[in-house]
Amino acid sequence: MKKEDCIFCKIAAGEIPSKTIYEDGQFRVILDLGPATKGHALILPKGHAANLYELPDETAAEAMKLAKKMALRLRDRLHCDGLNLVQNNGETAGQTVSHFHIHLIPRYEGDGQKINWVPSQPSQDELEAVRKEIAD
Ligand code: AMP
Ligand code: ZN
Repeated sequence: MKKEDCIFCKIAAGEIPSKTIYEDGQFRVILDLGPATKGHALILPKGHAANLYELPDETAAEAMKLAKKMALRLRDRLHCDGLNLVQNNGETAGQTVSHFHIHLIPRYEGDGQKINWVPSQPSQDELEAVRKEIAD
């Protein structure tokens, strides 16, 4: 997709209005239009990167620092009981907007949301085979 057609580029640049809760030179943090819970926010880098694979290292580092800052703010202002960071890459993983973003999802006791997977039960040999595929 061309950068010119990217909705999150336009939102990050302020060309499309959004419910902004934080902005600096590199990032805009907005409220998700379809929030999982009260305060569900998205960290958007102003520079276009489709996903984590394409994100410059420095932006990745700054994005995680900002995630921490915003997590503390959500906790302190909304008094959430927990918080999930979610970051999807690729359609298979649930990515619907091809501009890197981090979800900050405040969690409240009894909120009924599920950000979960079904655990499998591999043998030690199966785990070891996978480890060998990935480890240096
Ligand atoms: P993902 O599935 O990780 O790509 O997440 C995309 C998220 O962006 C979803 O949670 C949508 O609700 C949210 N979203 C899509 N368009 C907008 C928009 N214009 N403003 C705010 N949030 C949006
Ligand atoms: Zn973009």
